[in-house]
Formats: sequence, C-alpha cells, structure tokens
Amino acid sequence: MKQIINALVQLQEIDNEIYRYVQQKDQLANTLNEMRDLVGKMEQSVSDKQTKLKDVERWYEEQQEALHEYNDRMSKIKASLNAVTKTKDYLVRQKELENLRRHKQSKEEEVEKVRDTINDFRDAIQRDQEKIEALRSETEKEGGATWDQVHQLEALIGEISKRREHLLPVIPAATLRRYEQVKSRRDGVAIVEAIDGSCGGCHLALRPQVYNVLLRMESIESCPNCNRFVYVSEQTIRNLQERQAEAGAEEQA
Ligand SMILES: [Zn+2]
Repeated sequence: MKQIINALVQLQEIDNEIYRYVQQKDQLANTLNEMRDLVGKMEQSVSDKQTKLKDVERWYEEQQEALHEYNDRMSKIKASLNAVTKTKDYLVRQKELENLRRHKQSKEEEVEKVRDTINDFRDAIQRDQEKIEALRSETEKEGGATWDQVHQLEALIGEISKRREHLLPVIPAATLRRYEQVKSRRDGVAIVEAIDGSCGGCHLALRPQVYNVLLRMESIESCPNCNRFVYVSEQTIRNLQERQAEAGAEEQA
C-alpha cells in the first residue's frame, strides 16, 4: 500500500509540472488567437465601412448627374430666350431659370458637404487599413516566435509525460481511473497531504478515525468533501512519532 501511495504522490508531482506547462502553452495559444480575432474584427469593420462608402459614392455620382441635368435645362432655356417675343413668355422663362438656379445651388451645397464626408471616410478607411497591416505583421512576427514556444512546450510536456510510465504499473487500474477523474475535476490535483488532520486540498477536518488510518498508510482514503486522495507523508509520520516519544519520556521522568 505504501508503494501505491508513493507512486500516486510521485505521479501528482509529475502531473503538477505538466499542468504548469500546459497552462503556459494554452495561454500563449490564446494570446495568438486573440490577436488573430482582433485582426479579423478590424477587417470586418473596414469592409463594412467600404460598403457604406460605396453607397455614398453612388449617391454622389447620381447627384452629379442631376446637376448636369440642371445645367442642360438651364442652357436650353437661355438659348430659347432670344427667340421669345412676348414679354410674358420671357418673364415666365426667367422665373423658371431663377428656380432652377436656386435648386441647383442648394443641391451643390448638399453635394459639397457629402464630398467632405466621403474624403473623411476614405481617410478613416486608409488609417484603419494601415493599423490592420501593422497588427498583422506584428501578429505574424510575434506569432512565429510564440508558436515556436508552443511547440517547445509541447515537446517538454511529452518528455515529462514519459516519466509517468514506470509509475503506472504500480497503481491498480481502478485507483488510476479515480486519480485521473478527480484530477480533471479538481484543477489538476488528485492527491493531497493531510495537514494537522485536515484535507490539504479543501481544508476539511478529517474524522480522527480516518486520520489514524492515514498514519498507518494501510489503505487509500479520500476526502469526503473534495474526493481527493489524502495521505500523510512518511516524514510527517516520523515527526509525529518523535514528538510522541518525547512526550512519553517526559511523562516517565
Ligand atoms: Zn478535501
């Protein structure tokens, strides 16, 4: 039994090391994915802006055509003025001309404003694209180095995992299954030392009977609260025995 407990403790030490590297690796991979997501979101936003810009540009073109039409109509009326003989007709055409001029002017002002907006919009898109380019090249540069780190960590994890192999035959299959189950549910920790009679994982005070069993290292016990295996190290047992011996000697003296 002692051998099984010791194997589980060693397995936990190896797994702690693996767990640390796995977390480092996941964190690096997350950072890279976040950067990629950011580039993707910015690209989407630029593409939305481009769509809007096209709509406005189309409207602008239409207004330019409308302005041409005003010009055409006005020139036609102007050309026809010479042929007009009656004053009344002349005045009517003059009035029409004046109306067209007013409409054209207000449209021109409107179009002018939109042209400024279009230019601002183009500048904004240009700036966004430069930002994206910078971020993309940063992501690629940093990404390459980071992926190298990720692969190094993977190799390291593989190396460390090999150290588990000689421990596994010592541990009964059912115990190993429980170990893996608890480990995955309890942040990677499946076996903890009981400290001063309490579970070292969740700090629940263990029943004295359970603690006494642990002190004898005769069976594998679990914490009733967090389900982790609990044990008492041989060093702790020796210390306790020494203290008991001292206390006994004092009583006799
Ligand atoms: Zn516990």
